[in-house]
Amino acid sequence: MTEKIGVVGGGIAGVGAAWALHRAGYEVELFEKGSALGGSAKTFRWTVGDGYADSPVLVVAWPQMYYHNYESLLDELGVGIETLPVSYFVQTPEGHFCQDGQTAVQQRFAPEFRRWKKLIAFVTKVNAFFMPKKTHNSLYHFSYFNPMNVIPIYWLARLFGISRAFWDTIFVPIHCATFITTSMRGVPAVILPLLESVVPLEEPTQMGTWRGAPRQVFDRMSAPFADSVHTDHEITAVRRRKNRFIIEDAKGRTYEVDKVVFACDATAVLNTLESPSWLQRLLLGNSQYVDDVDPAFSRFVVHGDTGIFPEKHRQRILSDFNTYSEIDETGALECTFVISAQNPSTKDAGVPMLVTFNSKKAIDQVQARIDLPHPTHVVSLRNMIIMWMIRFLQGKGGMHYCGTFTTPEGGHDLSFMSGLVAAHSIGAPYPFSQDNVNAVEDFKQMQRLMLTRRDRSI
Ligand SMILES: Cc1cc2nc3c(=O)[nH]c(=O)nc-3n(C[C@H](O)[C@H](O)[C@H](O)COP(=O)(O)OP(=O)(O)OC[C@H]3O[C@@H](n4cnc5c(N)ncnc54)[C@H](O)[C@@H]3O)c2cc1C
Repeated sequence: MTEKIGVVGGGIAGVGAAWALHRAGYEVELFEKGSALGGSAKTFRWTVGDGYADSPVLVVAWPQMYYHNYESLLDELGVGIETLPVSYFVQTPEGHFCQDGQTAVQQRFAPEFRRWKKLIAFVTKVNAFFMPKKTHNSLYHFSYFNPMNVIPIYWLARLFGISRAFWDTIFVPIHCATFITTSMRGVPAVILPLLESVVPLEEPTQMGTWRGAPRQVFDRMSAPFADSVHTDHEITAVRRRKNRFIIEDAKGRTYEVDKVVFACDATAVLNTLESPSWLQRLLLGNSQYVDDVDPAFSRFVVHGDTGIFPEKHRQRILSDFNTYSEIDETGALECTFVISAQNPSTKDAGVPMLVTFNSKKAIDQVQARIDLPHPTHVVSLRNMIIMWMIRFLQGKGGMHYCGTFTTPEGGHDLSFMSGLVAAHSIGAPYPFSQDNVNAVEDFKQMQRLMLTRRDRSI
């Protein structure tokens, strides 16, 4: 008899797991608390004149050199990819910084930018010594013995003579959009070379994005099992009954399945469990999300108010920059994604499309205010240890785990891969051609990160 798998969480991890399981012949039931699939990869519908335009608002782009499996998925689904230039504008009380080497702020920090380069070269060397032989650009290379796992970037930067002012004025305003927080002092140095290759502090970069909006990815992935997709289903209990599970949602609806894949946040998993083991309590209860330490980025305003930008630079920001960060006199940081400057499907619409986090000013022309509890997990040593130990829970008693708390950093490829690895450990084969050696190698590395030795095969 075909096994039925319940998947809790409809972000890319959960939909990825359900998609792989369904194409392998499993019956799936996919439960999502929100009214649409996508999780953080939300699609927003803007009013434009008498019509509308859809765009991404939070998950907006990705570093193409690293997203081997996610781009294989988009190829397979026939979703177009575009490469866009990505640049940052930072406004401080002393002036602005915009990666062009010209401004007074950049000149003030010129010696520290040189030290920053030395720091990256140093970490790159240490990583190269400890990491397994690197064959391609990968997010998944990892060595347990690398001391850079336990030393935060911040402390190493201070040792290299980089000031707190540089950290607060340059690093945090740019990377708040990477880590979805302003609290980054615990980020381990091991990821610094990766970070710099994705978002170099001193120069603009390029990233991939969907030609349309992320919704089409989720629509196309879930189309073959659309009847088994249950949105507006917040799962509140997962109970073991004989050899099966009863999944119950907040409205008391119940479903019976053989196995469960958890693809929601760790707190939600723990809350659903009837009698969690000590290890489940320890790992799921201690997994830290960005809003546990800094609530700044769990709330955002979708709007069209260009008055939030300084008048002098307004037109330039609207046409040339993807992310605008502003530090006020108190040191508080507001960050805005300029969707209309970057998204291929909306950049010619002629209306400003902005998403502001941690808004400090009054904002007009608000289209939506959205709360995003537990948006992504903290990148820290504590979460790395938890991620590494989740392997001892994987598959136990028919329960599997994927999503951000099972990955070393937050990212669409990482979450998608975690869903594929969970599906594979149930029995779904790796879904893409084995000819793409980089994608296959990433998949194997992700298995190493998520599973114990005896679970791995491809
Ligand atoms: C603001 C922001 C910007 C980002 N930008 C990028 C970017 O540009 N590029 C990139 O690669 N990555 C980005 N990320 C990282 C992003 O987190 C991942 O790319 C990925 O979308 C995470 O997918 P996921 O499926 O693991 O989790 P999520 O997308 O968080 O999905 C989890 C789902 O579980 C659901 N859920 C929770 N509890 C329950 C329950 N009890 N019952 C049912 N459903 C439940 C939630 O509603 C949610 O839909 C960004 C993240 C954030 C927060």
